[in-house]
Amino acid sequence: MRTLIKNGYVVSMVSDIRKTDILIEDDKIVRIGTVSEENETFDKVIDASNMVVMPGLVNAHTHVAMSIFRGYNDELELMNWLQEMWKIEDRMKKEDIYYASMISGIEMIKSGTTTFNDLYFFEEETAKMAEQLGLRAILSRAVIGEGDDCLIRVRESEELYHSWHNKCDGRIKVCVGIHAPYTCPPDTIKKSLELADRLGTPVHIHYLETKDEVEKIFNVYHKSVTDYLKELGLFNYHVILAHGVHVNDRDMEILKNISGGIVHNPISNMKLGSGFAPVKKMRERGINVALGTDGQGGTNTMDMFEEIKLATYLQKGLLGSATAMSAKDALQMATIEGAKVLGLDSEVGSLEVGKKADIIIIDINKPHLKPHHDIYSLLAYSVNGADVDTTIIDGNVVMEHRNVMNVDENEILEKVELVKNKLF
Ligand SMILES: [Zn+2]
Repeated sequence: MRTLIKNGYVVSMVSDIRKTDILIEDDKIVRIGTVSEENETFDKVIDASNMVVMPGLVNAHTHVAMSIFRGYNDELELMNWLQEMWKIEDRMKKEDIYYASMISGIEMIKSGTTTFNDLYFFEEETAKMAEQLGLRAILSRAVIGEGDDCLIRVRESEELYHSWHNKCDGRIKVCVGIHAPYTCPPDTIKKSLELADRLGTPVHIHYLETKDEVEKIFNVYHKSVTDYLKELGLFNYHVILAHGVHVNDRDMEILKNISGGIVHNPISNMKLGSGFAPVKKMRERGINVALGTDGQGGTNTMDMFEEIKLATYLQKGLLGSATAMSAKDALQMATIEGAKVLGLDSEVGSLEVGKKADIIIIDINKPHLKPHHDIYSLLAYSVNGADVDTTIIDGNVVMEHRNVMNVDENEILEKVELVKNKLF
């Protein structure tokens, strides 16, 4: 399969922006530069004139099946909100998770996300969604609780790994997921890490999200969250640390040496009143910071362009400086730096010869995008998810002119409404 993308503004995230062509063969980018159509045959030619061609976005922290909670009890404090939500989650069946994941999957493809990193339960249903829609995913079953509850969830994590790891030509990967330090006693964390050891996977965990978490761990264990996790051995693994809102200078001394990094979820952190992550400082210390949406309780959409914009505005506002974070910085976090945090940067996150063809094409011939002076600025501050025209993952066109392939979108819209009515 040979696909040619012609004449777009190519934003590779690793070299200067230029107007040129990209040639894809099967799942990979094989050429970036002028490609003559004479004496060559292509299975598909995409005219990207007046369009931006950039890497697919990496949403590094999600709970995609939480679409079902969009707008539910929006104005509650995090702990109260979690307790309300857990009552509903207890009633959710596999089929509910499938449709709730599916609606997020469609939303991600339509707003330019090509890779997501998910932590939830019944993840095999989310895997089916990613398989069907053609998304790239890292999936983890959230281990939470203690005793038998913990053991059941560790076993489910292992089963998920054996059923889905490296499936769909390697598009789907499985890692170990731990809910959070404040919901998992030391033994639960140890058992999860033993599993990560056995399977050789990264570990995805909520980390330093709220002040309550800091106080709770200190009151019970008389140490900081970072010391608590370090002593349990967490930082010996590749770690995907969701939030990092309350990271201090001492924590950064440990974090700067880890494999993996922090996932910043600016909208979730502001909406839940969790606080402001010191993103500029962490990146200056050499800590990789990805971007994520979190679940639809923390944020109400999966549109990563909203997170990109808010990430820069938050640092500018917080630090009282218009230069605190640039448009390009935030775009890097949503692409190549996000891929680094997930350990996928040798495959995705930038447009380079030899990398996987995970590409989005954005129509910039629109009133809110014309005229413009700087394409990074345009992408970070003016573009929104609905401007994405075409999405390509692993060399496959999964959305063209806003039509998502491989699924009947209207049927999913109806089905997810029925799931909502049943659960609430
Ligand atoms: Zn989360």
